[in-house]
Parts: sequence; C-alpha cells; structure tokens
Amino acid sequence: MKTLIDRILKEGKCFEGGILKVDKFINHQMDPNLMKQVAVELIRRYASTDINKIITVEASGIAPAIMMGFLLDLPVVFAKKKKPSTMVDMLSTTVVSFTKQREYHVCISSEYLTKDDKVLFVDDFLAYGNAAKGIIDLCRQAGAELVGTGFIIEKAFQNGRKVIEEAGVRCESLAIIESLDNCEIRIRQ
Ligand code: 5GP
Repeated sequence: MKTLIDRILKEGKCFEGGILKVDKFINHQMDPNLMKQVAVELIRRYASTDINKIITVEASGIAPAIMMGFLLDLPVVFAKKKKPSTMVDMLSTTVVSFTKQREYHVCISSEYLTKDDKVLFVDDFLAYGNAAKGIIDLCRQAGAELVGTGFIIEKAFQNGRKVIEEAGVRCESLAIIESLDNCEIRIRQ
C-alpha cells in the first residue's frame, strides 16, 4: 500500500532490536485518514470471505479493527490484557510480548467469542506472530473459525507469517519490512 509505505519511510524510526517506531501516525498519535485507507484495503483483500466479527488485542490493534468494524458494520472485540473483575466466564491464553520482553495473559469473555463466529484478527504489527498465536488458541478454545489475519506492518525478518500459515490461517499485511539493519528501513516494494 503505497501511501502507507511512503509514510513509514518518511516518519518511521528504527530502534535497536528490530523495533520500528511509527507512533507519529499509527500507535500513539493516529492518522484516522490513513487508518481508514488501511481498513479499506484489508476489507478489499478479504472481500470474498465470510466474516461476522473483527478481533484484536489491546491496545494498538483497536484503531484499525474499529475502523474495519465500522465500515463493515460488524462487531469488534479486543482481547484484554487484564482480567476484569466482572468477567465470569472467559477464555484466556498466554502471549509473549515482543516489545516488553515478557509474558502476559489475554482474555476474552466467552460470550463474545463462540463457535458461531467467523473472525478476522487485525493488529498493527506482525513480528514473531506471538499475538496471532494467542488469538489462534482463543479461537480454538471457543470453537470459532479464524478466517484470516490482517496487519498494517509485517516485519518479514521476524517470521511471524510462518507461524500463522503453518496453523493453516491466511495472512495479509499492507507494508512488508525486509530489514531494519543498521537502522535503515528497507521495505518490499
Ligand atoms: P508479535 O506478537 O507478532 O511477535 O508482535 C506483534 C505485537 O508486538 C504487536 O501487537 C505490536 O504492538 C508489537 N510490536 C511488534 N513489533 C513492533 C515494532 O517494531 N514496533 C512497535 N511499535 N510494536 C511492535
């Protein structure tokens, strides 16, 4: 997606350890217009599929997910990183955090992910595929169908796509980073 790629090249910043900072327009300050274009493109790619719900993980996945849910008129559910005291019946799993280098639990009320759901998982980044692995597990527990995954940015050198595709799930991303070596952003064109 050219607009997105141009923006990453112009405003993205590299950090040690293969981290790309895009908090000027994606995950801190956000550009709603770009987010809408991201949602439209992901919707186009999944146009031939049957989806009844968008699923994400808090917090950075919520913006693209809600934009897709709005455009498709579908509910959006985000997996929570802290179990609310009011949540009685829930599905939970463990995820390794790439940016924080630790494990955390994510949960979803079993009321909002069920065997009747056909879901699309959306997130800002695909790195090692750990968040996706967690969602795959939650869908398995719920008996829901995971129709596919969609990411704004994929860091190809961290191989998350392999994890997703080996689980038999479709993977789409809108900007593919080949490398961040020497703090230079190399994007597949
Ligand atoms: P994964 O679960 O695929 O290993 O990592 C994806 C998650 O880690 C995303 O939810 C994203 O928020 C975070 N993440 C991974 N890599 C980066 C990065 O380079 N920059 C930022 N800002 N977040 C990242």
